[in-house]
Amino acid sequence: MKISPHVHLVGSEQFALSHPLDCNCYLLDGGSALALVDTGLGLGVDDILANVAAAGFRPESITHILITHAHIGHWGGASELRARTGARIWAPSAGAAAMADIRDDPGIRINLKFGRYPAGFQPVACEADRTFRDGDRITVGALELSMIGTAGHTWDSTCMAFEDEGRRGLFTGDVLFYGGRLGLINLQGCSLDDYRRDLPKLANLGLDMLLPGHGVFVLRRGQKHVDRALAKLGDFVMPETFFEENEFMWSREYLRMMSGPERSAGAEPVGGR
Ligand SMILES: [Zn+2]
Repeated sequence: MKISPHVHLVGSEQFALSHPLDCNCYLLDGGSALALVDTGLGLGVDDILANVAAAGFRPESITHILITHAHIGHWGGASELRARTGARIWAPSAGAAAMADIRDDPGIRINLKFGRYPAGFQPVACEADRTFRDGDRITVGALELSMIGTAGHTWDSTCMAFEDEGRRGLFTGDVLFYGGRLGLINLQGCSLDDYRRDLPKLANLGLDMLLPGHGVFVLRRGQKHVDRALAKLGDFVMPETFFEENEFMWSREYLRMMSGPERSAGAEPVGGR
């Protein structure tokens, strides 16, 4: 799904582009190079590659797999995508070790405990090829991404700023969502103090597009969503969070329903008689 001249959405639960446990996965078209931003959990790789092809790109042309943070819902598909495309995996330097050794991963442990993964799903660790830090720039063909370390959701969370034909965009991972909602969750590594320290880095970016890791993306007035989050962080009541109200991955019943047959039993084909 093309959302700006050089950005396509190629994976997503909420837009039903790939597996119900996938985050938003974006394809960035730099001409001579292509980047995927996040990969989903790993169960939607076939769908993601089909969406890349449907957008008119050869999957083997993907050169970069950029990971916003070390939660497996964002990088679980990276190893298979690397094997099938030849791309290099780029991860935040503060998160690469957690991706490479998942034995103590608190998020995976909790999702297994609450039965959120489909039967038979085995989380597999992933070794990144390259790492990046706050302030680094990564060139993807004609496009350039600026890495902005924004801890809070996790200690390694990174926003990625770029410009597409004069429109300023920001991939936010799970840091910030539509309406300025934050990715605060009850999980080790998540910190409101870190949010207060790092989110001001996103002030005054003049954003048009806000491209989060789940849910609705925004094509204009993106900066206003950041500004709203910053204003909320200046107050002493808890800021609004995204996951509690907008993310169905917590619901086993929802995931069972979504992972079942594509069409409900007895449904008439559209236009059929
Ligand atoms: Zn996350």
